[in-house]
Amino acid sequence: MIIVVSGPGGVGKGTIVDALVKRDPLLWLSRSWTTRERRPSESDDHYFFTDTKTFEDRISSGGFLEWTEFLGNYYGSPGPEPDGERDIVLEIEVDGAQQVKKVHPDALLLFVLPPSREEQERRLRGRGDPSDKVLARLKKAEVEEPVGRELADHIVVNDELEQTLEEMLAIIVGARERFVR
Ligand code: ADP
Ligand code: 5GP
Repeated sequence: MIIVVSGPGGVGKGTIVDALVKRDPLLWLSRSWTTRERRPSESDDHYFFTDTKTFEDRISSGGFLEWTEFLGNYYGSPGPEPDGERDIVLEIEVDGAQQVKKVHPDALLLFVLPPSREEQERRLRGRGDPSDKVLARLKKAEVEEPVGRELADHIVVNDELEQTLEEMLAIIVGARERFVR
């Protein structure tokens, strides 16, 4: 099963998927490629950090399940190699989520929303994003949210992290039971 976790920047997607894969051994987190700079707070392997030419070469060779341009950088999920045991988790924005749904209509799409725009802004600033990036992400969220709401199988508001994780794990377990392999 492919599980797509999507939602606007700063809502907590990265935090959520890291916690989900720690709690559920049947989940495997796909590592995306990006051309954006690594944030000082990020580990070297959070993304496969690469340059534009390498990324574009991989697009040409059909090496992405989905890819997009987001606020001036490329992001993409390399064609995952399922191990037959675990479900693949993709943490991606809505354009990529749409592409995945087209190729895999049975993918489970969880769209995460912040409790409020103010709280989303607090989280972006708290993470250390510079002001211009915070504003760009908040503006982008206005466009992403209606698309995500339309596309989602489930909408989850990430207010209390623990509650969010429990809600998402319950959704995943339920979907797994219904999923035909
Ligand atoms: P995203 O991947 O969606 O851009 P992050 O996972 O980087 O978001 O989270 C943005 C910030 O919000 C981080 O500092 C993270 O620790 C914090 N955060 C995530 N979930 C919650 C929550 N439920 N309550 C408060 N802060 C949160
Ligand atoms: P950030 O720069 O904050 O890490 O990511 C910006 C946006 O790109 C986030 O919404 C994140 O979910 C999304 N993203 C990360 N990896 C991918 C990917 O492989 N494909 C797509 N389409 N979006 C991604």
